[in-house]
Amino acid sequence: MKIDGQCFCGHVTYEADVDPAKVAICHCTDCQMHSATAYGVVAGIDLSTFRLLSGTMKTYVKTAESGNRRALTFCPECGTRIYGGPADAPGGFVGLRVGTIRQRAELTPKLQVWAKSRLPWVMDLSSIPSRDKQVLP
Ligand SMILES: [Zn+2]
Ligand SMILES: [Zn+2]
Repeated sequence: MKIDGQCFCGHVTYEADVDPAKVAICHCTDCQMHSATAYGVVAGIDLSTFRLLSGTMKTYVKTAESGNRRALTFCPECGTRIYGGPADAPGGFVGLRVGTIRQRAELTPKLQVWAKSRLPWVMDLSSIPSRDKQVLP
């Protein structure tokens, strides 16, 4: 599936090919912190299909729990994360951050990984009261 996306400020825009079967929720603690929220949602893509249309990205290298070095790309202007992949073997398979994809509503996750560090409340959002617009708690 051809998709397009951008960072929050619009500096970075891109196109890529996403396989909707390879969309996952990642509950690892790195995703929790780097996304500054409860979990990451990623689409596994072949980096050769990723085409940067505008902007430049900055890369932060994080050594994961496994010892693998992960290259995490983000917009240098607004900080939106774009994708993450192996730092020492560039190319190949990377995790594109689904929140930046314009077609994200069509990309329902098919798997959850790192369930052992999942935050205890995320499995039952339906029990939390919801409103259509912002209301401070
Ligand atoms: Zn940006
Ligand atoms: Zn993760």
